[in-house]
Amino acid sequence: MRNAPTILHLDMDAFYASVEQASKPSLRGKAVVVGGLGPRGVVATASYEARVFGVHSAMPMAQARRLAPNAAYLVPRFSLYRAVSDQVMALLRELSPLVEPLSLDEAFVDLAAGGTAWDAESARQTGLRLREDIRAATGLAGSVGLAASKMLAKIASEEAKPDGLVLIEPGTERALLGPMPVRTLPGVGPATGDHLRRAGITTVEELAEAGEAELVRLLGKAHGQALYAMALARDERPVVAEREAKSVSVEDTYDVDIHDRPRIGFEVRRLADRCVRRLREAGLSGRTIVLKVRRYDFSTLTRSETLRGPTDDPEVVREAAGRLLDSVDTTGGVRLLGVGVSGLADYTQEDLFAQAAKPSREESPEEPVAESAAAPEPAAPHWRAGQDVRHDEFGHGWVQGSGVGRVTVRFETPQSGPGRVRTFLVTDPALRPADPLPLVPVPAGQPGSGLL
Ligand SMILES: [Mg+2]
Repeated sequence: MRNAPTILHLDMDAFYASVEQASKPSLRGKAVVVGGLGPRGVVATASYEARVFGVHSAMPMAQARRLAPNAAYLVPRFSLYRAVSDQVMALLRELSPLVEPLSLDEAFVDLAAGGTAWDAESARQTGLRLREDIRAATGLAGSVGLAASKMLAKIASEEAKPDGLVLIEPGTERALLGPMPVRTLPGVGPATGDHLRRAGITTVEELAEAGEAELVRLLGKAHGQALYAMALARDERPVVAEREAKSVSVEDTYDVDIHDRPRIGFEVRRLADRCVRRLREAGLSGRTIVLKVRRYDFSTLTRSETLRGPTDDPEVVREAAGRLLDSVDTTGGVRLLGVGVSGLADYTQEDLFAQAAKPSREESPEEPVAESAAAPEPAAPHWRAGQDVRHDEFGHGWVQGSGVGRVTVRFETPQSGPGRVRTFLVTDPALRPADPLPLVPVPAGQPGSGLL
């Protein structure tokens, strides 16, 4: 392990909810919950004000509404989150070529590899400057952890939240970790935590004292050995830039070329399922779906599609692979098919939200539209809480709610004060969906005004 705290872990604070508060001045300082608003929706992110009521990510939305009935419940706006994420990741890449994003709002950076830090003091200065730069570029707060390993850097950023920086001096790791609950360590979920508690182990120090043999007996070889190493603060995993990150893929070569299009589609779905099984076994999720097709004449094509967030949902991967297949000419037959997932991430809160990463989910109404043979009129517009709108007379705003043929809009922008609320008929022709506005005004004449 290196002897200077030059691995940085950045984690934006309550990212989706903070973006919403920055966008919507009337929600600043208020409880905000972002997630799926349909019957099976879950919380993606809750603002700190909402967490006070016990709302947290992955909680069913219905439960959140019982705990915090007065919070603002909003659909996610991934295009905006991605644009802000791109700004943040660009700042990280100025620090080092080795940036490993874990999700839209979280990444490891190897500062030593970038020559931006070599000891505790230079690492701290770099971390402080990064937090200022992120605030200037996005208006948002990110917490920074600095340590000599990825595991400790991530624990440090958790300790730093909200809006802080924690640096763990090399040599102090074990003393710091010792009293922490076992659940602090990566890979220790509720089930492992319960199992260890029944064996009388609740803290990291107790894990270390139990010894490797005992942990292997309790948890099996791989998990036991890994956990023992972590309890001793041993973590040698390098920061891996995304483009080098391994992918998980499966492929099949066929004895006889396949010509039949439905059969090709069937094989691609089967490969997608197998790929997802491999992904899940490795405890990973990924953002880029890759389809590989080798045709009868040995020409090989690859097509890829990047989702808005990491997924390990077989349905999402199947659908993406199917869309990619649609763009490939398979006349003449195929001799090999492959499906892969890259842009891998460890499990993070965002992948609970992988469902919402499906383009079809984000763009379509959440309630199923009743299919009717005789649909005489076009369906009324479907306004979703949180979405951007523009009114011919009142300008930019967002949907606060809708029902019984009415939609309530609050007219405000990231740079305005809290705005006024007005109510319209859902069919009002002066009201239209709009694109999100940038959180920080782009100086005139500078590229980037087309950011979103
Ligand atoms: Mg975060």
